[in-house]
Amino acid sequence: MKIRRLSLLAKEGPREIEIAKLPRDVTITTYAKCRALAVNGLVRAIHGDSYEWYGFTLASKDRPECIVDIGIPFNDSNAYHHTAIGPENISLFSDSLPHDLIINGWIHSHGRLDYRGFSRTDEQNHLSVLDYVGTFVKKPVSRRQIVIRDLVALTQDRFGQDEKTGRSVWVVTDVPVSEARIFEAVHGSFCYGIVVGDGGWHMQEIYYKTRGILTGSVSIGKKEARMVPVDSGRVFTKKDRELLAGEIKAKIKPGERISHSR
Ligand SMILES: [Zn+2]
Repeated sequence: MKIRRLSLLAKEGPREIEIAKLPRDVTITTYAKCRALAVNGLVRAIHGDSYEWYGFTLASKDRPECIVDIGIPFNDSNAYHHTAIGPENISLFSDSLPHDLIINGWIHSHGRLDYRGFSRTDEQNHLSVLDYVGTFVKKPVSRRQIVIRDLVALTQDRFGQDEKTGRSVWVVTDVPVSEARIFEAVHGSFCYGIVVGDGGWHMQEIYYKTRGILTGSVSIGKKEARMVPVDSGRVFTKKDRELLAGEIKAKIKPGERISHSR
C-alpha cells in the first residue's frame, strides 16, 4: 500500500465546537478602577499605615465580564502582609448585594510590600473564589465530542439481546443507525483576581474552569491579564471618595485576629 501523505495516518482528535468565549482581559469601568486604586491611600490616611485589605469585584448579571464596582466586605483583620476574612463576613457581604449584581472576582492589596505578584496563598484564595463565583458566571462555552471505545448503537429490540461483554456505552435508537457521535456541552466559568499596591501598581490574573456536563471532566487554567478600562459614564466623585472613606473606617480592622498570610 502506498500512502500519499503521512498526515493521513494521524488519527483525528475529538472535535470541539466553540460556542462562546471566556474573557481574556479584565474589563473594568473607569469608576471601579478609580475606586479600587483609591482604597490604599484612604487606608493610610484613616488607619495611619499601609494595611492589606480584601474585597470583591462586582459585575451586573447581564454582563458578568465587566467589573462595575468594588465591594469591600467587613475584613476580620488587617496587617501589613496579612488579611483575613471569614465565611460569615463573606456571606454577610454576598447577602447584602443588590440582586442585579454578582461577584466575578476578588481584589486585595499588598500595601507597601514590594511583592508585585500573586503568592501561593493568593493562588489558593483565587481557586476558592473561582469555586464560589462559578455558579454566577457559568455559561456553555463549547460542544465537545466524547470519544468512546466500544460505542455501540443498537435498536431497542437488539439491545435486550446484546450479551457481548467489553462494550462501554450503548446508544439505543428506534431505527438502525450506522454511525453515531456523541457531543457534550462544556460549561465554563472564570474569576478575576487583582492585586494592588501603594503607588498605584496593579496586576491581574484570570482563572478558568470548564466542566463537561456528561463526563464531568474538569479543567482549570489561569493567565495573566491586562486591565482594560471602559468608560461607563459614571465618574468617581469627591462624594464617592467620602463614602468609601466611611466604609474603610468601618470595615478595615488593623491589628485584630490574623489567620492567613498575604
Ligand atoms: Zn497577596
